[in-house]
Amino acid sequence: MSNSQYKDFLACEARAMAMMDGWKEPQTDALLIGSYVHAYFEGPEAFEEFKANNPELISSRGPTKGELKTEFKKANNLIRAIESDPMCMFMLQGEKEVILTANFAGADWKIKIDCLNRDNNRFSDIKTTDSITKETWDKKLGYVSFVESKGYLTQMSLYAEIERLDAGRDGWIEPIIVAVSKEDPPDKAVVGLKAYDIERELDQIRENMPRILSVKSGSEAPNRCEKCRYCRETKQLTKITYYADLTL
Ligand SMILES: [Zn+2]
Repeated sequence: MSNSQYKDFLACEARAMAMMDGWKEPQTDALLIGSYVHAYFEGPEAFEEFKANNPELISSRGPTKGELKTEFKKANNLIRAIESDPMCMFMLQGEKEVILTANFAGADWKIKIDCLNRDNNRFSDIKTTDSITKETWDKKLGYVSFVESKGYLTQMSLYAEIERLDAGRDGWIEPIIVAVSKEDPPDKAVVGLKAYDIERELDQIRENMPRILSVKSGSEAPNRCEKCRYCRETKQLTKITYYADLTL
């Protein structure tokens, strides 16, 4: 299991199963901007490789040839916002793109930590978001920040646990999110969570895993969310929907 697969199964089991068979969500500009910022902080080599693999980012014609296309230019502002902040840069010191594995909640997990700093008992991850402070509506949780709505609380908690198991240690090291917004000028924050948040998130994963493993292995049929791109692509209607059920 990976964090993204776990997230996929929670969002829509049918889509998660289709993704295991090769179905892909199309790349969006928002995702590309996030990956671009990530690659930059991974190091010069990773950054050049990312740009070579994503030629759609770079203008190929006219006076701007070789530069970032207009819609991706703001990615450079995001990078500058982080780079010009000593606290952000301090939090991003450590070993980059570290792969760790451990067995947890009945599954073998593989994770990739952006920036691991065991000497300072910390790991960190850069997250790009539309706004750091804006609340969004979540049906289960009510109004929440991007950290919850994007599943980052779950991801950081899972990473803390896998790192702990990998290291064979009793306690967790501190998960840190270096957040930068896509606003002009970008907002930024160094975001932390507490041990009881990690405990709560891990309990939630332990609770969800039996169903996910059962669907993944084919023992139980996947549920369709009927809302995601995959469900919309493959939808076949069989009944009339009562109007008040449309937003359920
Ligand atoms: Zn779906």
